[in-house]
Amino acid sequence: MVEFCKICIMPNSRPRITFDKDGICNACNHSKDKEQINWELRKEEFLEILSNLKKIKNRNKLYDCVVPWSGGKDSSSIAHKLKFNFGLNPLLVTFSPLIPNEIGEHNRKIMSDLGFDTIFFKPKENISKLLSQRFFKERGNPKVAWDAGINSLPIKIAIEYKIPYVFYAEHGESEYGGLMLNKESLKRRDLREVIEHQIGDYPQNWVNEKISLKDLAPYVYPEKDEFNKFKVEALYFSYFFKWSMLENFEYIKKNVKKFKTIKDRTDGTFTNFDSLDDKIDNIYYYLQFVKFGFGRATRDSCRMIQNKQMTRDEAIQKAKKYDNEFPNTYFKDVLNFLEINQNQFDEIVNLHRNDEIWEIKNNVWNLKNTVYAQ
Ligand SMILES: [Zn+2]
Repeated sequence: MVEFCKICIMPNSRPRITFDKDGICNACNHSKDKEQINWELRKEEFLEILSNLKKIKNRNKLYDCVVPWSGGKDSSSIAHKLKFNFGLNPLLVTFSPLIPNEIGEHNRKIMSDLGFDTIFFKPKENISKLLSQRFFKERGNPKVAWDAGINSLPIKIAIEYKIPYVFYAEHGESEYGGLMLNKESLKRRDLREVIEHQIGDYPQNWVNEKISLKDLAPYVYPEKDEFNKFKVEALYFSYFFKWSMLENFEYIKKNVKKFKTIKDRTDGTFTNFDSLDDKIDNIYYYLQFVKFGFGRATRDSCRMIQNKQMTRDEAIQKAKKYDNEFPNTYFKDVLNFLEINQNQFDEIVNLHRNDEIWEIKNNVWNLKNTVYAQ
């Protein structure tokens, strides 16, 4: 039977999450650990890294770091802080969203207007579509290859341009409940952790009769000998500075005046500021609900409970109200992109419906067990 964390409301059906003997999830325990961290010391550690920049041989003297950048509040607030608070010249690298939208384009443009150099990389549309179709069917996740792309491209560019650091945003496995391979991976991006947990496979293995190895160039991670050309370190910003998606949003609202959000709120949740720049994201989160029984409102509210920005009771109400809302806003665009009709979509969705957590009554699927019925 599904259990819910006693502090946040995350169910234990979330992949790789663990609960302690008191029924508290590891994301909540991690957030308690964060209260003990001396963030001043972490900042000093960060400043030391910056002061070491000068000592790095053969490096690009014009760019200091790469920021993998969607144009959203998280990556934009990191880029903004690196430039304006720490005096660095970051190169912002975007791996094109699967289905770009106007909000993402707008937000990327205004950051460029503030004085950032950017690279927008668009992989072959036919291949990205084939991969998205395949993983939507096989794993109920149209973004598997895209995830590989955002992990590989910024590193390749950093090596190519001889830029010593890549600043990723947050370490998702510890922040949101997952499995850490080792403590060091809170600070340094551990490729094995990313491949095993996020992507689940090496992109080289995706070759088939329609997709060649060369087609997969944007997704394949650099080989060891490429790393030997120039040493790049991939670090998590969340190790050095306390991570909060709400505070990132507040920061961006204050410092990037023209930053756009969704007018009312995003489908399936109560927030209007998170994960806005790919039309396929709404479906991605909906499929998480189908596969694991937690929707986007649960996801958002757990993060806010852990940062003391919401109570558990409020979160329960949000989950009840929004979690099972169908993402209609970009649904037609997603069907067009995946080249399927509504029936085919429903069929695939139901293939991924976990019958340990769902039951059907009078042709309607219901969760067997919810946090609000307890
Ligand atoms: Zn929890």
